[in-house]
Amino acid sequence: MHIDLIYRFFPHCRYNSPATQPILMRSFYYRTLVVTALFIPFLCKAQKCKTTAKTVCTKADLVRSMQDDAAKRLVALKKLIPGLHIDMRYATSNNFTKEVLYRHPVAYLRTAPADALKQAEAELNKKGLAIKLYDAFRPFNVTCRIWRLVPDKRYAANPMKGSNHNRALAVDLTIIDLKTGKELDMGTPFDSFTDTAHHSFIHLPAHVIANRKLLKGVMRKYGFGMVPDEWWHYQWPNNKDFEVIDLDFDDLADIVK
Ligand SMILES: [Zn+2]
Repeated sequence: MHIDLIYRFFPHCRYNSPATQPILMRSFYYRTLVVTALFIPFLCKAQKCKTTAKTVCTKADLVRSMQDDAAKRLVALKKLIPGLHIDMRYATSNNFTKEVLYRHPVAYLRTAPADALKQAEAELNKKGLAIKLYDAFRPFNVTCRIWRLVPDKRYAANPMKGSNHNRALAVDLTIIDLKTGKELDMGTPFDSFTDTAHHSFIHLPAHVIANRKLLKGVMRKYGFGMVPDEWWHYQWPNNKDFEVIDLDFDDLADIVK
């Protein structure tokens, strides 16, 4: 960098004598190097957003965590449940953000919730019904992006804590009729952030109450818990301190075969 450029940003230095110029140049370079070095360790997070959650953000760390604990293994749901109906809404603009948030999505869950979902699907199939999945694992950077668009914890997960979707423990889903392929009436669409979507909202037609009860019954039977404000969201207990996964679908495709 030429000394004149330094003078442009630090005009008071222009009054130094020519003898001090090499010292000034060296000082400038060292300071630049130190500042750059300080920021390098934070690049992984700085590109996205801050979280206090335990996080894995490299493929090597994720592989290691899955090798150390079989419960942390990821399962591609379409391989485990070949007939599963999947409509990943964040891979399209048909979601509340109106933006496409996923590239190359695959529905992943950890082993135990994946097995539980398979059992729930089998039980519904016996009744001529099936699960339709809207979302499962969600990359942490997408949670960050949604939070930037909608920084309201009623409607979006705060990245500071991380979402159970980021931990591959949560699903968003509804029930469809296998003959018609149509979704059962749950009273509101997916991601309808109104009190009508709350489990406690009872001013609904009897068939809607029955449909929600059916979904709740089968999900809870196989071990999922629910949240009060969203009829479509179910999650597995985080009893192993499952990490937030700060990786994209492309990264996971290299790991989960
Ligand atoms: Zn959800």
